Parts: sequence; C-alpha cells; structure tokens
Amino acid sequence: MSIYVVGHKNPDTDSIGSAIVVAYLWNKWRETGKMKDVMNVDEEAIPARQGDPNPETEFVLNKLGFELPELLTDGAGKKLILVDHSEKSQTVDNIDQAEIVAIIDHHKIGDITTPNPILFINLPVGCTMTVLKILFDVTGVEIPPNIAGLMLAGILSDTVAFKSVTTTEKCKKVAEELAKIAGIDDMMAFAMEMFKAKSDVAGKSPRDLLFRDYKDFDMSGKKVGIGQIEVVDLSLLDEIKDALYEEMKKVKEEGGYHSIFLMLTDIMKEGTELLCVTDDPEVVEKAFGKKLEGKSVWLDGVMSRKKQVVPPFEKAFASL
Ligand code: MG
Ligand code: MG
Ligand code: MG
Repeated sequence: MSIYVVGHKNPDTDSIGSAIVVAYLWNKWRETGKMKDVMNVDEEAIPARQGDPNPETEFVLNKLGFELPELLTDGAGKKLILVDHSEKSQTVDNIDQAEIVAIIDHHKIGDITTPNPILFINLPVGCTMTVLKILFDVTGVEIPPNIAGLMLAGILSDTVAFKSVTTTEKCKKVAEELAKIAGIDDMMAFAMEMFKAKSDVAGKSPRDLLFRDYKDFDMSGKKVGIGQIEVVDLSLLDEIKDALYEEMKKVKEEGGYHSIFLMLTDIMKEGTELLCVTDDPEVVEKAFGKKLEGKSVWLDGVMSRKKQVVPPFEKAFASL
C-alpha cells in the first residue's frame, strides 16, 4: 500500500507543492535506509491534491515541469501524510477511516487526532516549504533544482513575497538558499509572474472565485467560511464584486452558515476589502473595531487570513 501526501481542500501552491515535495523527500529518505531508524512505516509516498489547482499553481507547475498530482478526496482505507493543514473541515472525507502517518504544517493546531504517535511537525513560519527545507537539512537529502523552485514558489505565494505578517526571517533565508539551488536570479520577478497568473479572474464564475481559496471554520459553534482572492489591483474585481456578494448569500443559505467572509486582498496596496455576509454584523465591528460600510469593510495592512482575520474573528465569535 502506498502513502498519499495531501494538502487542504481548495488547494493553493503550498498545498499542492508541498505534497509533491514531501513525496519526493519521503521516498529519498526511505532509500537512504535511515527512515526506519525513527519511523515504523515504510511504504512509498505518492503526491495528491483535493481539488483543482488555481491559476498560480498551474503556472508554477508548468514553468517548473511538474505534473499535476492525482485527485484524492476520500481517505477511507488510505495511509496519509497531511500537509499544510490539520483541521477536519479542511481535510479529506472519512479521515476517521484513514491511517495518518505524518502531519507537516505551519498553521494553528487543528482538531485532527490520531490513535497512535505519528511524525508531527508544525512550525510558526510562513509556509510549509520553510518547514520542509529544515527537514531536507535534517535528513541530509539533497534538493534538486526543480524541487527548490517549487519550494521557493510556495514561500513566495504564502508570504505574498515576504509582505505578509506571517513571514519569518527563516522564510527569507530559506528562500535565498532555494533560489540559488533553483537558478532563479530574480526572485521578485518570479513572484510577480506568479501573482499576475493568480490575478487572472477574467471569465471565471463567481462560485469558482469564491471557493478558489476558501476555508471553513467552527467558531464557538458557528459555521464560518472565509475565502480570499489575491490580486495585484483590486480594480480587477470591480465588475464581479456584486456577483461575488450574491454568490456568498447563496452559499450561506445552502451551507447553513452563520457568516461568510471574502477577503479581496490587494497585493500591491497591502490591504484587504472584506466582503461580509453574516447573521450578526456586530461580529465584524467586534473583530476589527470598524463598522460595516454597506457590504464590506476596508482593512489596511491585512493580508493574512490565518494571522490577521481568523484570530480576531474567533475572539469576536466567542464573545457574541
Ligand atoms: Mg495553504
Ligand atoms: Mg501554507
Ligand atoms: Mg494563502
């Protein structure tokens, strides 16, 4: 039986990329014979994904010559390595019927538990790839240029080219090292190419855009969905904003949500217009100290869902 490496639902470049990178690292580590020293599982790893790649991920995989990993949405009877998440709401169906072999992540610890001890590595850094660079160093496995390029892409994507507050000094240092190995001289030019690909919203349906980078949360017993669309210029979304809002209302009804929030993030201006559909508009004011202006609120300097949006909302929902 093989082990599937899989990232979160509505995958981003880090989720699909780190599945590819972990499968590579795992199989090379296994070949050295040293994996057996600390692990009691010994099967080969295969990268997988839970959904379609976004245009940025597609661009990165094409540019670096990687194939799209296979689709895996049901964990029943499978051995799994989870990357870039540890929340039940973000993982494969029937996770309780899967055997989790390892979790490698950089988010808050979620609600997935295991009956046995596993390899569990989580660091408060900007990207799963930063954690993986450390694992390459620890295991002594060499990083080939295309894998280095993919790891760099993940870091640039998750940290929004180091602009996000999630960025650590380690992320920057690791990115420099990876760029060297990958032979990428101009890291920022590479990042801009990625962000331009990501900003391609033309012709996409509001539903596709809403769910492109979307996560469900349980906040004090309330079902909350938070999506994010990152673009190089918010005016790219002017024409579709109303349709996005209508779609959020629909999804809220269909999914029995308390709230759906959509971060429209301007990568260059470094801020977010937060579209809000909620049973309790007060929760927005509680979280950010700003009243809803119509459908949205502008949050200057906010770019990170996990550090700047989820924690204030969790607090606000707890005090509703
Ligand atoms: Mg991710
Ligand atoms: Mg990530
Ligand atoms: Mg992200």
